[in-house]
Formats: sequence, C-alpha cells, structure tokens
Amino acid sequence: MVLQEQSVGQVMDGKALAASVRETLKEKVTKIVETGKRRPGLAVVLVGDDKASALYVKNKTQSCKKVGIESFMHTFPADTDMETLLNCIKTLNQSDVVDGILVQLPLPSHLSAEEVLAVLDPNKDVDGLTTESMGRLFAGKTGLRPCTPVGVMVLLEEHKVDVEGKHAVVIGRSNLVGKPIAMLLQQKNATVTMCHSRTKDLDKICQNADILVVAAGKREFVKGSWIKPGATVIDVGIHHTQGPDGESVISGDVQYADAAKVARHITPVPGGVGPMTVAMLLSNTITAFERRTGIK
Ligand code: NAP
Repeated sequence: MVLQEQSVGQVMDGKALAASVRETLKEKVTKIVETGKRRPGLAVVLVGDDKASALYVKNKTQSCKKVGIESFMHTFPADTDMETLLNCIKTLNQSDVVDGILVQLPLPSHLSAEEVLAVLDPNKDVDGLTTESMGRLFAGKTGLRPCTPVGVMVLLEEHKVDVEGKHAVVIGRSNLVGKPIAMLLQQKNATVTMCHSRTKDLDKICQNADILVVAAGKREFVKGSWIKPGATVIDVGIHHTQGPDGESVISGDVQYADAAKVARHITPVPGGVGPMTVAMLLSNTITAFERRTGIK
C-alpha cells in the first residue's frame, strides 16, 4: 500500500483518533461486563461475494473484538431471496443479545436495501439509515446517527475546527454521507451549501468553503486550486487502484498533495475518515446497548 505524500497542512489523523476512541469504548465495555451484564452485540449481515464488502465486514468484526463487542456474522449467498433476508432481519430485531444490526451495502441488485431498512428496528439501526433514524436526525432528536458523518464531526471536534458561523460546503447528497453530514454541520451552526452532480461553478463554491467535505465518489476530483487557503478539507472518498508496479493504492476524492499545501487541516486517505467510520459503528452499538438495557 502506498501512502500519500506528506502535507504542509495539519493532517487529521483518523487512524490515531479511532484507536483512542476504541480504547475509551473498550473501558466502557469492561465496566459493563464487570457489573454482570452481557456484552453489547452487533449482528453483521453480508450477502454475496463482493470482495470490498467482505473486507469491510472483516474489518468491522475485528474491531468489535478489540473493544469486547460480541459480533454475530450472518453470511448469505449472492442468490439469496428477499424473503430469506427479511426473515433474518426480523429474527435479529427480536434477539435479546443483538443491539445493533448492520446490513453491508450494496446488496446484490435483485435485493432492495429500502425493503431491508423498512423492517429493521430503528433502535438497532447502528448505521442510522432507516427512515426513522433519518427523520430523528433531521428533527434534531436523539437517535442513532450514520457512522461516517458522525466520524467527520468527531474529527472536526478533536482538531478544534470552529464550525459555528463558518461556510461549510458538502459535495455529495447521498443518504449515507452527504445529507447527514450537511445536517450535522448545520446543527453545529455552520452555513451549509450542498453540492451535487448538477451544481454549477463547483470550483468557485469550494473556493469559498471554510470547511469542505467531499463525498462525490470520484477519484481525485477536487483540485488544490479549489481550496480556500486555511480551509479544513475532509475527504470521504475511498478508491482502490493499482500503482505502476501493480501495488495497491488507496486514494480519495481530493488531490491530496496539492490540497494539503493550501489547507489548514486535511484528512488523508487512507487513515482519515475511514477508521473513524468503523469506530463510530462500535460507539453506536454500545449506545444502542445502553438505551436498550436502560443504562442511558
Ligand atoms: P454516492 O451515493 O455515489 O453519492 C455521490 C454523490 O456525489 C452524489 O450525490 C452525486 O450527485 C455527487 N457527485 C457525483 N459526481 C459529482 C460531480 N461531478 N460534482 C458534484 N457532485 C457529484 O456515494 P456515497 O455513498 O455518498 O460515497 C461517496 C464516497 O465516499 C465514495 O467514494 C465512497 O466509497 C466513500 N465512502 C467512504 C466512507 C468512509 O468510511 N470513508 C463511507 C462511505 C462512503 P447526484 O446526487 O447529483 O448524483
């Protein structure tokens, strides 16, 4: 794996922060177990044989182990039908030892993620993707929030990035990333501009961003010249490619080396938002456990 060039801006080290979050969560789980309670449990549902999904799932279950969360794997072949999958979710909804249910997306094309989310118990929705969870986020009510957006907010907080009154630009409007990030930034009193594939003069809008969050899913799409000097740049994108010698290269949605020369803070890829996403999944699972068992 080739890491990106060293920057002159301050690198927001998501890997280190995620490790520290995991330490705190591990202590929390140890205390829970010491009081005689069971461990928090996360059920992970994986359908099909997509290599990237399998890798993400492995990473998530290993992270569970590190903090003492019990993980339950439910693996299905690619040709699984909707009824089987929905029955699995309904059983997990009823399980006393499962606090969080994660359905790894994307699902094979014949299956509907929407139908899965419609039956998933919002109290166990550790990805924050059900309509109920999204509504609660939109209304500013307590609920489980999507992991990547919360991870971004924790990174900003850790690096003491002032959000209030700042102009935050979010590129991307997916339910998973763009929309919830925009909402969370707005709730922290940023003035938010949401951009998407039909946005005009995107470079000029970005040049006005104090905080720029990029979740476009387009490799090295944002150029260094688009970054306002002193801005904070959060790169959510993840792209796996091969280098000239066949080595594995991971890069983001931002031209990192150029952007880092201008930005005040910037997340690297890998090692920025990605590890925080997994850490927030663990955090959500423990929160779900606490709420379900009446601790919180
Ligand atoms: P997505 O569902 O494909 O959404 C991409 C968004 O970007 C869409 O809203 C799209 O606009 C917008 N977009 C596409 N091309 C654009 C352009 N030329 N100019 C402006 N906006 C453009 O992707 P996603 O699920 O949000 O994920 C985004 C990226 O984050 C991907 O690289 C994904 O792998 C990565 N990701 C990383 C993590 C992590 O933990 N680091 C977690 C989740 C996702 P329209 O709505 O108009 O189509």
